[in-house]
Order: sequence, then C-alpha cells, then structure tokens
Amino acid sequence: MITKTQIDTILSEYDQQKITVGTIGSHSALNIFKGAKEEGFNTVCVCKKENEIMYKRFPLADQIIHITNYTDLLDNNVQQELKQLNTILVPHGSFNAYVGTDQMIDKLQVPMFGNRELLHWETDREKQREWLKRAGLRLPKIFNDPSDIDGLVIAKFPGAMGGKGYFLVESPKAFHSKAEDMLKRGHITKENLENIHFQEYIIGVNVYPLYFYSPLTNEVELLGMDRRYETTVDSIGKIPATEQLEINVNPTYTVVGNFPIVARESLLPDYLRMGDNVAKISKEIASPGIIGPFCLETVITDDMKIYTFEISARIVAGSNVGIGTSPYAYLKYGEGMYMGRRIAREIKNATENNELKNLVY
Ligand code: AMP
Ligand code: AMP
Repeated sequence: MITKTQIDTILSEYDQQKITVGTIGSHSALNIFKGAKEEGFNTVCVCKKENEIMYKRFPLADQIIHITNYTDLLDNNVQQELKQLNTILVPHGSFNAYVGTDQMIDKLQVPMFGNRELLHWETDREKQREWLKRAGLRLPKIFNDPSDIDGLVIAKFPGAMGGKGYFLVESPKAFHSKAEDMLKRGHITKENLENIHFQEYIIGVNVYPLYFYSPLTNEVELLGMDRRYETTVDSIGKIPATEQLEINVNPTYTVVGNFPIVARESLLPDYLRMGDNVAKISKEIASPGIIGPFCLETVITDDMKIYTFEISARIVAGSNVGIGTSPYAYLKYGEGMYMGRRIAREIKNATENNELKNLVY
C-alpha cells in the first residue's frame, strides 16, 4: 500500500512551480485539461493510441504518454515519467472502472488530487450506503436476494459501469427470465449476476448535483447540475404503448451523454445542505475527508422528496455539461468557471500558499 508519507516524499521532490496536471485520456479529460491550461498548467495525457485524436484536435495535452491497457498507468516507466513531469493526477470514472481502486491504493505512487480512500468508499456499495445514511440522506431500499423482489426494482452491479446492464423487474419470476435475456443479449455476464443487488425503483425525475469541496476555504460549492441521456430507456417514450407491449421492451440504462439542469430555486437549500452533510461525514469516515469534486445521483418524486441512490467521490462526466460555465458556477464565479478549472484553481491556490500536500493523496 502506498502511504501518505510516501506521497509527501514524492511531492517534496517536485518542482512545485512547474506542476503538470495529468489524467487518463477518457471520461472527463477534456474538461480537466482545459481547466488546467486556463489556470496556466502544463498537461499530460496517459492515453490509448486510438483516443489520441481527441487531445490533439482539441489542443489540450502538452504531452501524451501512450498505453495499451488502462492498467499500464501502474507500470514503473509510466509512473516514472509522470513523476519527472511533477504530475498531479486527477482521477475520474475510468480510474475506478478500468484501473481499480485496490490497485491504485496499492501501486500508484504519483500524487493524486483528492482522497483515494474515498474512491474505495464509492466503489463498495455497503460503505457508500453507510456514508450517505450517516449524512442523513433519504435512500431507496436495497436487497440482494431476488426472492425478496416485491414491486418495481432496478437490478444493479458494482463499479462505475455508467448504468450498463441495469434492468427493471417487478417479481422474482420476471427477474429470472429478464436476467436470462440480458445474458443472451450480451449486456451482462455470469459474474455480474453473482454481484447483483436490487434497489427500490424511485419514480420521479433525475437530478445530479455537482459539488466541489475546497479544503482551503472549507466550503462546499455547488457548480452545476445535470441528468443523463441513457440508451435505451430515454427512447421508450418514442414508441407507442401498444407497440411497446408487442415487442416486450426491456429498457437498458447505458449512458451516452448528459443534459444540464437548472433546478427550481426552492430545491437549492436542500441540495446545499445535502452537499455539506456528505462532506462533513466524509471527514469522519476517511480523514481528511472529501477533497474537490463529488456528485450525488438523486431522484425527485412528485411529493418533492429527494432520494439519493449513488455518490461519486471524484469528478463525474456529467460535469462536462458545464465546460465553459454553468448557471451555478456563474452565480459564484462569474464567467468561465467549471469543474476542470475549479480543480486547477485549487491546485494553483495551494501551490501559492505552500499547501499542496493537503490536497494530494
Ligand atoms: P469511458 O471512458 O467512456 O469508457 O468511461 C469510463 C467510465 O466512466 C465507464 O465506466 C463509463 O460507464 C463511465 N462514464 C463515462 N461517461 C459517463 C457519463 N456521461 N455518465 C456516467 N458515467 C460515465
Ligand atoms: P447508476 O449507475 O447507479 O448511476 O444508475 C444508472 C441509471 O439508472 C440512473 O441514471 C437512473 O436513470 C437509473 N437508476 C438507478 N438507480 C435508480 C433508482 N433507485 N431509482 C430510479 N432510477 C434509478
């Protein structure tokens, strides 16, 4: 396991006037790099050859380190190169999904913006639930045994899969035939089925608030809100009900993009308090708590109850809707603030005050 002391030693060998902001080339890398460049940093993209076009066409990566598999990030020569560039890595969904939080905690020596232990809390559903519960949030009921299905539930699998393979069922019998169908269609694997869990399906609209906690100012900032564009569930409404019945539609939830949202203003006090509580509890469960971006996934019902079904303890791809600005970022900062830039601004402020070691783990 890489300790904080080791990270501090590596950081102390860095030229802190020449920090490079780095990340894996996917997910929210454009957002992170643009923000870093606007704050005056050099950038490094750890990238698969086939994705390089993105970071060249949008001229945002000063350096590119080629990898074949995402886990090559952990190779000694890749890490060595990153350290030589004085790199601070900004983790996103691909780190969790393709590198793995255990591997990062065990092997990644490059200083990372944020608290890597909380990424572990994010990917462990029981830990995640404990965190949200202790923060006083309203959660959907969950269970593991298909025979307990009684009413509409969503079947889910662990990890940042972007909704891939999720499906809806309302009875144990329906579960077995739908699971079979999802296997046959290649949406899920046998291994997925072993790790399945069920969540009460909350009928309402999705709102995903995007927060940033600054350890330097001790404030949770609301920088945006989004919702997802999911195939196929967002297309079901285009088919009349009679045809839906005829073809026996089984919606899936694979994310393909996001829409920005501006919430009814009277909802904001609740969302602000929810963010504060999540940050407060994060300090108790994994000291020093959350650092930088985090996001809640919520559903609002017709009686205006907010249910939270997921937390991400890092930048989420939904924050890409705010590249440039969002109404909430504008209210706080005026023009030109967004998640990638907010991260870089925090690194810059910390560098100026010699506090960088409070932001990287
Ligand atoms: P990708 O680089 O697109 O394969 O994404 C990396 C991981 O993040 C995958 O697990 C995706 O499912 C997830 N992901 C990517 N984009 C989004 C998004 N807009 N919303 C939610 N999850 C996403
Ligand atoms: P997740 O991977 O947990 O972010 O969920 C993927 C998608 O499934 C979400 O964007 C929602 O559309 C849907 N979803 C997940 N959990 C629930 C729930 N408990 N109630 C309603 N919709 C949900």
